[in-house]
Amino acid sequence: MKKKPIILISIILFILLIYYLVTLFVPQFFDKKHNKVRIKAPYIVSSKAKEVYNSLDFIADMHCDALLWKRNLLKDNNFGQVDIPKLLKANIGLQAFTIVTKSPKDQNFDKNTGDTDNITALYFVQGRPMSSLTKRAISQCEDLYHYAKKSDGKFRVITTSAGMQKYISDRKINKNITAGIIGVEGAHALDGKLENVQVLFDNGVRMMAATHFFDNELGGSAHGITGNGLTNFGKEVIKKMNDLNMIIDIAHCSPKIVDDILAITNRPIVSSHTGVKGTCDNVRNLSDKQIKEIAGTGGLISIAMFEQAVCGTDALATANAIKYTVDLVGADYVALGSDFDGSVTTPFDITGLPLIVEELIKLDFSEEDIQKIMGENVKRFLLKNLP
Ligand SMILES: [Zn+2]
Repeated sequence: MKKKPIILISIILFILLIYYLVTLFVPQFFDKKHNKVRIKAPYIVSSKAKEVYNSLDFIADMHCDALLWKRNLLKDNNFGQVDIPKLLKANIGLQAFTIVTKSPKDQNFDKNTGDTDNITALYFVQGRPMSSLTKRAISQCEDLYHYAKKSDGKFRVITTSAGMQKYISDRKINKNITAGIIGVEGAHALDGKLENVQVLFDNGVRMMAATHFFDNELGGSAHGITGNGLTNFGKEVIKKMNDLNMIIDIAHCSPKIVDDILAITNRPIVSSHTGVKGTCDNVRNLSDKQIKEIAGTGGLISIAMFEQAVCGTDALATANAIKYTVDLVGADYVALGSDFDGSVTTPFDITGLPLIVEELIKLDFSEEDIQKIMGENVKRFLLKNLP
């Protein structure tokens, strides 16, 4: 063998080794930097709040981005806000795992374009496929199914109403199981192709928001440039989602898109993670009119748990937004939508949900309403609306 090829092969092997080491260590650096909690577990609540929390039969959360970080969700990690051991510890009946495929550099609430992207670099250091946004989404779906497979039956992905029913009856016998559904944040994950709605559906996706932080092929984001409503493509996607019984999420959509969706959909819609203008007036949050419209479809308003959504840094701020919404439309349409692991600092990780119950008790909520808000509404909604 000549010397030159040996040197070349050595260089390639060295680069591959470095890349492998990068995929092992660098993702965790970003994960820890972006998903902080203000107070670490364990969380102390009154004996009354503990009693009410422990009596809850079904606790659910409609939004977390835990899949984005390539964190091993089978492990009880000492960072981040959600993983499967924490879901079990917190007695969570269902967690929505929502997929981010593209997010602009210098992401902000007011004005973003889709010209730049942070996720490409993140996917590179994670060793994930960067080529197409649909492939990016599929890789996160596959990871969740992988966790389900390796969880010794403790975690499952729910995709049908029958599967949900079976899970609920299994959970009556064994409380030490938990479940997830898959959602998508921003339908740019379709790569502009209508047929990819079916592709994502086939990979387990059951909920999708039209836009995320920038305007895309479907229309305007609440944080984009145009403020446009649905494009013709956007209307086709919504119709296809209706045909497949996929849940339409209006989080991050421009107000015009919300109006357009309401005009063409015949099914209940959700906002998977939101605040309300009534307690925190900004572009990402729902107006009273929108809250009433979502409730009018039989949908869900899922209240988030971070400062920019609820204008406060503790459980009380979330409880106040819940109270405002319940006062407006009643307790049947309100749920939790934390945005855990969504590049936000939250007051606590998912094992801190008893703190929400504590604040709801202080705000004079009945136990029946607390049950609905903490998960029964989500349970009823999914049983009725999953395919
Ligand atoms: Zn979001």
